[in-house]
Amino acid sequence: MSEHVLGDVTVHETLPCRVLVGAGARRAVPEETRRLGSGRVLLLATGSARAAADELARALGSRLAARFDGAVVHTPVAVTEEALDLLRQADADGLVAIGGGSAVGLGKALSVRTGLPQVAVPTTYAGSEVTPVLGETKDGVKTTRRDPAIAPGTVVYDPELTLGMPPGLTLASALNALAHAVEALWAPNATAASDALATEAADGILGGLPAVLADPSGLPGRTRLQQSAWLAGLCLAQTRMGLHHQLAHVLGGTFDLPHAELHALLLPHVLAFNLPAAPRAAARLERITGGDPVAVVGGLARSHTGPTRLRALGVPREGLRPVAERVAAQPYPNPRAPDAESVTLLLEAAW
Ligand code: NAD
Repeated sequence: MSEHVLGDVTVHETLPCRVLVGAGARRAVPEETRRLGSGRVLLLATGSARAAADELARALGSRLAARFDGAVVHTPVAVTEEALDLLRQADADGLVAIGGGSAVGLGKALSVRTGLPQVAVPTTYAGSEVTPVLGETKDGVKTTRRDPAIAPGTVVYDPELTLGMPPGLTLASALNALAHAVEALWAPNATAASDALATEAADGILGGLPAVLADPSGLPGRTRLQQSAWLAGLCLAQTRMGLHHQLAHVLGGTFDLPHAELHALLLPHVLAFNLPAAPRAAARLERITGGDPVAVVGGLARSHTGPTRLRALGVPREGLRPVAERVAAQPYPNPRAPDAESVTLLLEAAW
């Protein structure tokens, strides 16, 4: 994380984290839990990660205290409490989360309540595993907190776990990761380090995505995409996010929308809105895309076989203006001042 403290002085901080990268890295998970001092772990998974979780459960053997397959999007507190009961009954002393941002989020929510060490094994490109941020929902309201203690101490990136990811989720999740990199490029607290991470992430995602969509089970392409998503996650952790993440947060929380698809469909519209006011980011993205970033990202987003408009996600048109007003009223950094009028127009275009 970095913060503005003294005029032009920016502080760049990184979180301590041990990261294992490479095909087959998941097989090191039992040893990694031992390294963290855990003797009996609670394994957390989402439905689609069941096969991978089965394999991990077998590998953990007697070190598996219990397993919870009920992680869901937006980390509802009721689900966390259910998992917490299981954790206590099973007397677990460590956490392993395998799956997308939903499983990783549940691991963070349990770790922050118990202080237990966690190993995160991500299977999407959401990036949550390297951030000190936890979003939780209760009674339909999503609140977010930031604390270095929330971030998993060990992250295991195994591209083999992503080979079966359907093309639709691949595209949406990769654009979700791209949004972290793009917002890092125009962040007020960008540093040479975050610029390097964001540029490499955007290059890897935009350069690597077509090959992965053409051959979803190709390991080299998946490896490049996963590693680019890791860098994008570091951007999310280290810089202050702007209009794009605010819109996704408010829309997603208000209408309970799928996380990655929402990010994917919003991104070209936010690029069109912000790039004229963010010449440094525009120059980098033009170099990476070899043309117009809005057209390139828009083409990718529209190629999604699932919903590509807010209307298709079930957002009512009359809901756009109140969202724009909420977003315009909140203080957050953005290269172009987002007043309610212009944000409504942006949302109308995405609708
Ligand atoms: P997700 O974890 O909900 O996964 C989406 C769907 O894809 C689920 O049905 C899941 O089971 C399935 N899936 C996951 N991996 C798969 C794979 N390899 N193959 C096939 N299917 C797979 O969605 P997500 O987009 O990864 O994460 C979204 C959640 O993460 C939200 O709750 C969001 O708020 C949170 N998030 C938090 C941060 C943070 O820094 N705190 C960052 C990003 C996302």
